[in-house]
Amino acid sequence: MASVPLLCNICPKEPEFSDISHLLTHVASKGHLFQHHEAQIRGRQDATIRGKLATYDRWHERYHIGKLLSDRRIAKETKDASSRKPSGTAKPSAAASTKTAKPRKRRATTTAKQRVCALAP
Ligand SMILES: [Zn+2]
Repeated sequence: MASVPLLCNICPKEPEFSDISHLLTHVASKGHLFQHHEAQIRGRQDATIRGKLATYDRWHERYHIGKLLSDRRIAKETKDASSRKPSGTAKPSAAASTKTAKPRKRRATTTAKQRVCALAP
């Protein structure tokens, strides 16, 4: 695979990235998506922006940025799914323990008061 130019030409700062991971994070970010949307709107009136957007779209197409994002999303979701499993089983037991803990707390406060009374001369 040809190396992807690690830059974004449609964001105002035209950021460059040290690796593909950073680039993909940027491309999926709200800030970038907003700029892309803005470029689509403003490009209707501004030929410079239209040109930038065309360059961006070519880059996006040529280096299969959409596929890279999709692959990365799948990899992330499978990771999340595997890490979610233990916490998912822990949740119901945690809820059950809080239910049983409440009456215990009340008892604890009454005994604490009784202890204070007992300590008081
Ligand atoms: Zn960008």
